[in-house]
Parts: sequence; C-alpha cells; structure tokens
Amino acid sequence: MDIYFYNTLTHSKEKFKPIDENEIKIYSCGPTVYKDATIGNMRTNIFQDNLRRTLEYNGYKVKQAMNITDVGHLVSDGDEGEDKMIKSAKQEGKTPLEIADHYTKLFFRDLERLNIEMPEIICKATDNINDMLKVVEELVKKGFAYETSTAIYFDISKLDKYPVLSNLDVEKQKAGARVNVDTEKRNPQDFAVWIKAPENHLMKWDSPWGPSYPGWHIECSVMSQKYLGEVFDIHTGGIDLIPTHHENEIAQSKGMCGKIPAHYWMHGEFLLIDGGKMSKSLGNVYLIQDIVNRGYDPLVYKLFNYSTLYRKKLNFTWDGMDSAKISLDRLRDAYQKHINGTYDIDDSELEKYEKQFLEAINDDLNMPVAMSVVWEVAKKPEKSKKIAKLLRKFDRVLGIKIDKSKTDEIPEEIKELLELRKKAREDKNWDESDRIREEIKEKGYIVKDSKNGQTIEKA
Ligand code: AMP
Ligand code: ZN
Repeated sequence: MDIYFYNTLTHSKEKFKPIDENEIKIYSCGPTVYKDATIGNMRTNIFQDNLRRTLEYNGYKVKQAMNITDVGHLVSDGDEGEDKMIKSAKQEGKTPLEIADHYTKLFFRDLERLNIEMPEIICKATDNINDMLKVVEELVKKGFAYETSTAIYFDISKLDKYPVLSNLDVEKQKAGARVNVDTEKRNPQDFAVWIKAPENHLMKWDSPWGPSYPGWHIECSVMSQKYLGEVFDIHTGGIDLIPTHHENEIAQSKGMCGKIPAHYWMHGEFLLIDGGKMSKSLGNVYLIQDIVNRGYDPLVYKLFNYSTLYRKKLNFTWDGMDSAKISLDRLRDAYQKHINGTYDIDDSELEKYEKQFLEAINDDLNMPVAMSVVWEVAKKPEKSKKIAKLLRKFDRVLGIKIDKSKTDEIPEEIKELLELRKKAREDKNWDESDRIREEIKEKGYIVKDSKNGQTIEKA
C-alpha cells in the first residue's frame, strides 16, 4: 500500500518513494545534552518512533541516525551567546564532558521508558570534529564560506535560493537587520559554520583559524552525509528547527555537494502545557520522570500523544493523562480477555481492520484514526485469540506494550508469595493456600483461581 508523508520541503502531502527499496535512511536531529529532556522533546521522539515503526510495519528495513549535540549549540540557536554545554557545566560545577554523559544517559533512559526504538546509529558531535573541519575548509575553498575576526561564516548569497524550507523573507530581514548583527557578516542571514574560541574556552580544537569549535548546523550536515550519504530519504525534527537549523543544513549541503540532503523533511509540532508554552518561570517544565513520580506508566504519555496528529499542537494536561491512563488500562484488559478466547472470527473481518489500520498510519502517521481502529477491534464482544494476535501486530507500530498484563507490575514480594501458594496447592495444602491468599490480600492484591492457574490483580 502507498505511504503518504507531509513534506515541509514541498508544503504538501506526497507519496513516499524510497531511494533504495531495501533500506530507508532517516536522519533525526537529536538532543543537545546540556539539560533534562522534557516531555515536549519526547513528543518529537515519539513522532519519530511512529515514523520508523510505520516504515517497518510496511516491510522496510530502516537505518536511522541520530546525533548527540555536545558542542556548538549556542544559547540563541543562532550565532549569539554562550555554548549551551559550557553554560550548563559552569552552572552545575562540572566539566562539559560530565554534563554530556549525564544528560545523554538520562535521554536514553527516557527513550527506553517510552519504548522508543533505538536509532541504528548514534553519533556524537565531538567524535566527528575532524570530518567537520575538513568540510569547513572545503566550503571556504569553494567560496561558500569566509573568515571574520570571530568565526567562519556561510555566505548565503552564493546559493541559488535561500531559504528553501521556510517562508523567511530574506530581503525584508536584510532591511530590518538586527542592530547587534555582526558587522563583518556579508549578509545578515549568514551563519557561523566554525567559531573561533575566546580565551579560556573549555571546548576547542586546533584549526587553520586557531583554537575553535564547530557551529551547531555543520554537525548535522557532516554527520548525516558521513553516516547516510549525500542524499538520504527522510530528515526529521521539531518544527522549531525549520527556519534556522534545517535551513542552514540545506545551505551547507548545497555548498558541499550541490544537493538538498533529504527528499522528505518531516517536522513534529510542539507540545503545549495547559494551553501555553512550557517554561521554567511558569514552573511547568515536566519530564518523563515527573510522569513516573506521579505513578503513571510512561507509556500512558505515549498513548496520550496518539490523540492528535504529530503535525498539530498537542495540549498537555494531567486530566488528559488520567484519561489516557484509563484508556491504556482498558486496552490492556481487553487484550487479556482475547488471549484465550475461542471465538473463530472471520479472517475477512480481521483483514478489513488491518487494512483500515494500515491506511491510517500510511496517511502521514494518522494515529488518532489508527487508534479508533484499534479500539473497534479490542472492544469486540466475541473473545478471540486471533484478535489478540492482531492487537499485538498493531502494537508493533503503537509501541505501548498492549500485552502487558496487570501481573507485570506485581512486586517481587507478591510474586514470591504466589509461587509459595502455587506449591501449597500442588501439595493440596488448602489451609496454607488460603493463608497465603489472605497475606497477599493484606498487601493489596487479589488472587483468583482459574483453570489456567492463579491470576492476580490490584485490590
Ligand atoms: P531543546 O532541548 O529545547 O533544544 O529541544 C530539542 C528539540 O526538541 C527541539 O529542537 C525541538 O525539536 C524539540 N522540542 C522542544 N520543545 C518541544 C515541545 N514543547 N514540543 C515538541 N518538541 C519540542
Ligand atoms: Zn540537526
């Protein structure tokens, strides 16, 4: 079945045509590891997970590369301010390396908690400095970049078109250029590909221009080319990356090889909190850890994301999380009821649902419609093993562990008591069995006996 994606490059939904049918190559802009990733950042990662899982569901092999920005991302997202890594290191009294290690670990822990598939390639900016330096030298040699007293800038006037993704009006921006714009820049839109390090700067490397470090945008251009080739299938990121980071990546790649690096550019919209921006001053910056601390399974948050298209704003509220929790519990319960069901549902009916589900995900990852199909299947009054199997298949895209039963969350201590009770029943020691049942009850769980053995749920 055909797949359609909204392509920011053409501002339209397009039929997806892979470069190589055998492997789809995706580059996803990863985190700048100077602080905790928020649930907003994780929304973008959930969208990227849906994308790769959808391609895999369609039978494609995926090669996804994600960078870890551990140098060069300045506070302004442009060419101004301190390096975010260094600022954070100073604030926390650590080295930039310690900061990067710490937040990278936490980032991957969150991906795991959200059951997000790991990209095949994880590349750190600081591991690829030499490759970046070579490209910058090349850009200077070709006349696409020039030196000033502070940096090496990319000259956007050397391109046939800039910008290509966004609707930035360069002429208007030129006229109203910001007062603090670097006067040595040839064009206000020129951006730094390489930055000269001030004295005592913590992260710097030798270069023809003295001790210096890479700009944020060059990292992604160089690493995507190195790991996926000059042109790959899909480039992803959050919507905020369009006007600066991705625009500049395209500019650099055109300077490097004359090509736009990806055929499809896909961007996830922002998560709002209580209808507004997430911000420290409002005290509403939430992490996956906050979700865990409030007693939710992190996958409740993943399911919560499926209520809206990835290209639409999503408003986070704790009430919304409560509804998503009820939904996840109901879905998992419904699945458990189908596992041993004996109803022989007609294959053609299942095929109909499977087709509807595939149509939804292939229509630019339409998760709300896909979920409505999942619910229709799960809610079938006739209990059937075949339905359970289909739900497991859908979960290859959803990644919400639909087959996780309530017993999965049972503490070790209760599991041990269950084992002892099982042994007592095998020995026909009914008094002991009843005693253990009571002990389990006092600890907040209810044991039931069925022909398949003991089942347990929270009281
Ligand atoms: P940051 O750590 O703020 O640079 O964010 C890393 C990436 O996460 C950004 O480039 C965005 O693409 C994405 N992101 C940040 N905030 C949000 C949000 N509220 N909703 C969705 N994505 C976000
Ligand atoms: Zn990037």
